[in-house]
Amino acid sequence: MKKTILIIICSLSGFALQPTHGQTTKNIVFVVMDGLRWQEVFNGADTTIINNKTFVSNKEKCMKKYWNSDVAARRSMLMPFLWSTVKEKGQIYGNRTKNSFVNVKNPFWFSYPGYNELLSGYADKNINSNEFGPNPNETILEALNKTDEYKGKVAAFTSWDAFNDIINEKRSGVYVNAGFEKMPDGVAGTSTALLNKMQYHLPDIFDGVRLDGATFTMGFEYMKQNKPRCMFLVFDETDDFAHGGRYVDYLNSAKYGDEFVKELWDWCQATPEYKDKTTFIITCDHGRGVTTDGWKSHGTKHEHSDETWFAIIGPNTPAKGEITSGQFYNEQLAKSIANLLNFDFKANHPIAEGIEAVKAK
Ligand SMILES: [Zn+2]
Repeated sequence: MKKTILIIICSLSGFALQPTHGQTTKNIVFVVMDGLRWQEVFNGADTTIINNKTFVSNKEKCMKKYWNSDVAARRSMLMPFLWSTVKEKGQIYGNRTKNSFVNVKNPFWFSYPGYNELLSGYADKNINSNEFGPNPNETILEALNKTDEYKGKVAAFTSWDAFNDIINEKRSGVYVNAGFEKMPDGVAGTSTALLNKMQYHLPDIFDGVRLDGATFTMGFEYMKQNKPRCMFLVFDETDDFAHGGRYVDYLNSAKYGDEFVKELWDWCQATPEYKDKTTFIITCDHGRGVTTDGWKSHGTKHEHSDETWFAIIGPNTPAKGEITSGQFYNEQLAKSIANLLNFDFKANHPIAEGIEAVKAK
């Protein structure tokens, strides 16, 4: 009798104390920093590039801002949020010097194929151009937006104007604000008109690509006003400054990207709709070359530019910090997002398996 009571008490208290292993992720914030190399993410600024006058005119200033002989200190100078909060509470994949490998699966190693892979979970060989036009593949954003639960609660703010096609805005109905696109009146609250106007008064240095500070601010204000359940943000300066051989600007933009993520994370953690029920995924669409000149570019002519990285932080993701084993692919992130939301992502194309380690059982 005593034993029975004890068993009942134990199982009752056990039940009550059991941490919830069910779904807690209700929202996704998915951030991509275009063409930001894993080399800088994990090792910080690279002296072989800093020492080259072609790429860095004021070496002393650059060293002061981004150099420390200790690699952990150095990478924290570049991406302080990633290497504090995300490292402590999340998972960071892709440090090849520690046997963690992430690659794109598509055979092209440039943007549209990379974003299609990330969003549709399918490294489609037919998507072979940045001017491909409307994406035939259904993305995780579109699939979510088709459901009653997420309809009208999926949004994308991107610096590059190709995303109206990549997300197939017309077919998917996902709200996409890409390139120098105006927001509809009032959609970002009282700041809407000001932000719409401001974007046209910034330098158009990348030919149709909006500067990231504008994309971020517009997206963030939209988020505050509309509380989307799935928010996709893409910053582009890292890629464009690298193509231009402007290494300090490339580093600065990586740092701004890290600051954007911090601001979004802090706001989410202070906002009831998002607090402790939002998972952040941060990644890139491709890597870059590694030779003296090669870091500027990417594509199959530039070895190693298929090498990528990603980071993840949220209520379902066990805190493992820097991952030190395994091979993963960008195409796995779409299904990983679906798994975190307990959403059954199906489309009329193959979808790569999600990554189990990002979600506790
Ligand atoms: Zn590029």
